[in-house]
Formats: sequence, structure tokens, C-alpha cells
Amino acid sequence: EKRTFGRLKKLPAQLQGGEPIELLANLELPAELPMLLRNGAKGIGLLRSEFLFGERDDLPDEDGQTATYRSIIEGMDGRPVTIRVLDWGGEKGRACMRRLGLAEQVADGDNPALGLRGIRLLLRVPDVLETQFAAILRAASPADGNTAIGPVRILLPMVTSADEVIEAREIYDKVARRLKRRQIVLPDPLPPLGIMVETPAAALTANTMAQHADFMALGTNDLTMYTLAVDRADSMVADRYSPLHPAVLQLIALTAESALRAHRPISVCGEMASDPRVVALLIGLGLRSFSMNSASLPRVKRLIRTLKMEDCDHLRRHVMMETDLASIQSLIRDFAL
Ligand code: PEP
Ligand code: MG
Repeated sequence: EKRTFGRLKKLPAQLQGGEPIELLANLELPAELPMLLRNGAKGIGLLRSEFLFGERDDLPDEDGQTATYRSIIEGMDGRPVTIRVLDWGGEKGRACMRRLGLAEQVADGDNPALGLRGIRLLLRVPDVLETQFAAILRAASPADGNTAIGPVRILLPMVTSADEVIEAREIYDKVARRLKRRQIVLPDPLPPLGIMVETPAAALTANTMAQHADFMALGTNDLTMYTLAVDRADSMVADRYSPLHPAVLQLIALTAESALRAHRPISVCGEMASDPRVVALLIGLGLRSFSMNSASLPRVKRLIRTLKMEDCDHLRRHVMMETDLASIQSLIRDFAL
């Protein structure tokens, strides 16, 4: 078992015909880094930065954040690292509002998943976003010719309109100019600024989003929740929560098409990417990059290596013709790996 595992790690993630597939990891805590490397991740597709803001009453400062990002980037030894700026709010709790001095503005009884969350929250407290941008840029800085610094990318969570991307980019550029005035050497070009496509609004306007975002990451966990109006954390409706619902699949297909047409890199980083049969479907939809919890990586890689492109295509054709969830689920279940 251990030997096959070691051998698998050295083998490329590719289909039978040699088409390369990028397998990246989602990271929630720096402590997961060794496991991620052991499991052969080619980079971090989604670094959830919430852990930095979690267990404390004050907000982390620029130097502290810089050191944390820097150690993760160096730990990845030249591989790409995609850092998502703070995605507070929603099911991620409301204790944060108190710390941001917004507690009074959040009325009791409203719906946090539809409230001040993700990029909306950050644009309301722009100094938090500025500090985080500055720390990421400093951590990505190629200073001292350090070769362990791989490509860094930045992701905006919970985007619903292009205005949010435009406003965030203005802040990003301002922060970069400010750092240059402080004589800090920045990567040139600056790390790309991408968006999570995790709301129906972003998916339906993916063509427009592709004009403003440098890359896209499909967040299928939230996309499923918002499309189906099913709370991802509510066990009472867990049986209704499925990213294979035809409505969600249509949005994924639309987003993939838009990104490909605009030549914007796109990856999938929701939990659905950790099911190899579902990955076959997503490959059929044109996707080639997947980020998942690192425990799933070896299994997904092993099974991807047995896939033929034509089988993925065939699966996609059949699935996209179906109109109900149960039929799609049985097509996926019966897909021979
Ligand atoms: C998602 O919504 O699919 C996602 C990857 O982000 P998170 O699970 O952190 O909300
Ligand atoms: Mg999300």
C-alpha cells in the first residue's frame, strides 16, 4: 500500500491519452501542509485565510499576516499558492461582526448567508482588505532572490457583481503603489486577482466577470447552497443539497464555457471535486484544474489516470440531457471507473 502510494506520487495526473489535469489542495490550517505535500498536491488552489482571524479578539496585523503567508508560500517550495481574502460571515459566524465594530449594524433574525459576507464585508471595512492585500504582496515579494517563492494568486470570495471586482482591484492597486513607495520589491506582474464563482449571479454573468477577473474558481459548496436555496449546514435539508442538481450543473457549464472563451484560467475548488466520478463529469465540461481537501488527492489521481477523454465526454453528454437529480445521480453512480 505504502509503495504504490509513493509511486503514485511521482506519476503525473493525466488521462489515459496523456491530457494533463492539475490537482491542487484546499488548505484551512497551516498544520495541514505536510499532508498536502505528502499527497502530491501541485500547489494550493484555495488557502482559506479565516484561520488567521479566528481565535483572537484583535485583528492580525500586516507583519503577522506577512510572516504566516510567507511560511506557507516557502513551504510550498516554488509551487503556486492561491490565497483567498477573508470570507467571514454566513455560516462562518457572526462573532466577527463584533470585532469589526459592525455588531450594531447586524439586526437579529436576518439571514447571515444573504447578509454582509465575503467581499461585501471587506468592502465595508476596507482597511481589513488593505492590510491583507499588503501582507500577501509582501509575502509574494521575490526579495533576496528566494527561489522558494512560487507564483501567488489572490481570490475574492462571494462576488455577485463586477462592481465589487472593480472596487477591490482599485484598492489592490492602491496598496501596491503604497508598498512601492516603501521601497518594497513587488512581483512583476502583480499576482493575478481572481474571483470565486459561488453565487448564481456570478455564474450567470460569467462572461462579464471574465472581463474583470484574472481567473476564476468555482466554489461549488456555496454555489449549490445559493442555487438550490438549501443551507449547506442545515441537517434538516441535507437530503436536498446536491451539486449534481441540473440547475447547479448548468451554472457550472456556463461558467466553464465563459472562462474558456475568455482564456481565463478556471478551477473547481468545492467538495464535489473530491469525488473522482464527478471529476470525470467536470472534465467532460471542459475543466482541467481541481482543488480539493488533500486527503482525497491520491484517490482522485489514481482514478483520473484510468480515464479516457471520450468517456468523460460521453458522461457529460448523458448527464446534461437529464432533467432530474435522481437520474443524474444514477448515471454518475454507474459510471465505470
Ligand atoms: C465553496 O463555497 O465551494 C468554497 C470552496 O469555499 P468555502 O467552502 O470556504 O465557502
Ligand atoms: Mg464558499
